[in-house]
Parts: sequence; C-alpha cells; structure tokens
Amino acid sequence: MLSVLQALQQVLSHAQPREPLNLQASDALGYVLAEDIACDLDSPPWDKALMDGYAVQAADVNAPGVKLRLLEEVTAGKVATQEVTSGTCTRIMTGAPLPRGADAVVVIESTTAAGEQIEMQQPARPEQNLLRQGASMRQGEVVLAAGSVLRPIEIGLLAEVGRALVSVIRRPTVAILSTGDELVPAAETPRGGQIRNSNGPLLAALVTAVGATPVPLGIARDNSAELEAKIAAGLAHDVLLLSGGVSAGVLDLVPQALASQGVRQVFHNVDLKPGKPLWFGASDKTVVFGLPGNPVSTLVCFKLFVQPALRKLAGEAGRVAPLVRTAVLREDFHQRSARETYFPARLEQEQATPLAWQGSADLRSLAKANALLRLAGGERHYAAGESVEVIDL
Ligand code: AMP
Ligand code: MG
Repeated sequence: MLSVLQALQQVLSHAQPREPLNLQASDALGYVLAEDIACDLDSPPWDKALMDGYAVQAADVNAPGVKLRLLEEVTAGKVATQEVTSGTCTRIMTGAPLPRGADAVVVIESTTAAGEQIEMQQPARPEQNLLRQGASMRQGEVVLAAGSVLRPIEIGLLAEVGRALVSVIRRPTVAILSTGDELVPAAETPRGGQIRNSNGPLLAALVTAVGATPVPLGIARDNSAELEAKIAAGLAHDVLLLSGGVSAGVLDLVPQALASQGVRQVFHNVDLKPGKPLWFGASDKTVVFGLPGNPVSTLVCFKLFVQPALRKLAGEAGRVAPLVRTAVLREDFHQRSARETYFPARLEQEQATPLAWQGSADLRSLAKANALLRLAGGERHYAAGESVEVIDL
C-alpha cells in the first residue's frame, strides 16, 4: 500500500497546470501568474523626498543654526524649476522629486521659517530622508515570477509597474458527485435508512475556499447505469470528485464505473487513517478522486491530496502540500493505529488538544477542530507536553 507521501507524489505527477488566459489585473486576485512581470520604469522614477521638509545640500547644514534662503516650494506631482546651490533650500513635500543640486531633506519639524530665511536646527547627513531613482526597482527587472499567487499586494504591484492586463493560469473546474442509495439532499428529511448528503456541500465549499470552481452534480444512486452517466458528465471538467462507493462493500461500484468510462486507476488505498480506501485515477483531461464516504475521511483526503492537486492545476509553482508545523500536546494521547493518522484537534497558542471524537462520521466534533494532529503509524503513547506535528484546517 502507498504511503501518504508516495500517494501525493502520484497525484501531483498527474496534475499539470491548466492553460493561460488574459485577465484585467483587477479581476486577477487569487489567480497564479503565467508570465514573469518586469518593471517598465525605474521605481521611484526619480530621486524622491520621503518626508515633508527642505531639500538642502547636506554640507551646508553642518551645525544647528545655519540659515538658508528659500528658492521655491515643490509639492507631490510638481517638478522644481531651480537648482539648490550652496546657501539655498527648497521646501519639498513627501513624494515630490528632489531638485537638482540637493542631496538631503531636512524634516520640517527641525526648522523654523522667517520669510525667505529658513533656520536649520539640526545638522544633516547626505542622503537623509530621500530615495534615489530605481532604489526599489530597476526598469526591466523581474518583480513577480510566473507561478506566483496574486494576493492584494501583488495586485498593487502590477498597477505600479503599469500592467492592466496579465496572463494567468485558468482555475480548474471541479465536478462533485456524491454517491449512495442512502443519500437525500440537505433540504429533505431523511426517512428509514437515509442520511443527508453532507459531503457534496462540504466538498463544494472546500473547492471554493481553494479558489477553484465547484460544479455540483448532485447524488448518484448505487447502480452502474446512473453512476456511469454522471461520471461521463463529470469528465468534462478538470477534476472529478466522487464521495462514497470506494470501500469494500457490496455496493461500492465506483472503481468499476470509472473504469467503464475510460478512467485509468493510478492507485486504490493509502496507508492512512482516516481515508484508507482513497481511489485516484486519470482520464485524458481529468484527474479523478474517489473519496471515502465518511465525511471526516473526505475532509482529510481533500486536505492531503485534492487541495495540493488543485493548487498545482491552478499553476502554483511553490510548495502545494499542506504546511506541517509543530505544537505542544495538551493532553496524553494514545496512537493505536498502524497507519499514519490525522486526528482532529483544537489548536490554541501552539497548544494542541485532541478532540473527543466518535470516529470518521463525526462532523459535529470536527466543527470544533481547527487542526489535524499528524501521527506516525504504529502504537505509541504521547504524553502531555510532547511536541507533535499539526496541519491547520
Ligand atoms: P461508503 O464509502 O459509500 O461506504 O460510505 C461510508 C460512510 O459514509 C457511510 O456511512 C455513508 O452513509 C457515509 N456517506 C457516504 N456518502 C456520504 C455523503 N455524501 N454525506 C454524508 N455521509 C456519507
Ligand atoms: Mg456508499
């Protein structure tokens, strides 16, 4: 049986980035860049004042009490008309271009003005309170690399370098099919033997939270004809997520129905708890996950395998697997499983409390969880105060 890491490597080798498209930068939040972005101008484009005050020659202002003659005033958006020479100064506001001849800005608070005579109350150092042309970016320099996720900061940076239109990777669309004779939609009241379909909405929300586009396909009954028809519809998308029907029960028909629709199996079963029956395969254009039906197994498999695949399909170049951090265990915990285990926990100030949990159908307890403890397989007692690995939910 594959380990979690081996299974993830298989998944990622089948998840290749989608094609690029052009978008207005203002619509591109959360997308991944498909091109390197270079700066079209130096930034700042000229030497620039960083404070309100006076542009001076620092050599003039070598002691308190020096008086300089005021030439003019330059506010942001204006350009000085005169050169600052020895014995003179120009009043300048934050963001305005430094006049020729000046090499420092003295803040307004350490001066006193009497008409055209400005008295400097403190000595000045060359280069103080100014930013030289190109200090932050040089024209032609790559400021954002292909594969970067566009956060609000990057959207601002795109505007600064004059990019109104950008090439990004299309986000994957994700068909979601819940399987099971027992399932009814959330709006219905279950009757004998029935339960509500919680995985469908759970998966759609998880997909949305990653920035991909969910396409709910509803519920398929446990019969081959219905499964095959709905799988065929799902194969029009980049990803097909099925829940249920991949264990060893008599009505676990999903692997067979997928094979009949031309989906090649890559693996079935992972050394993982919960989530062992995970099925993964691919057709020509779609990667397919058969997620175990138990809601918590579905969630764990989504976090460990589906989310990294979606991030890679969306073009992310860096690490796509969930970040594993360490935390301190607040209570003793006994690991009984031989399989690598992901156990729901509440993480507060880097202290992890395992939740009282009724097994992999227990979504209610999971609602208190904001992390999963990751425990190696094999029976072992963990004492309160030990350091453990956690993944944020
Ligand atoms: P299965 O993987 O089909 O054997 O399902 C395992 C367990 O998960 C069973 O108790 C199912 O009733 C439950 N289950 C399957 N699909 C869903 C779903 N969409 N929503 C909630 N529970 C489900
Ligand atoms: Mg089932």
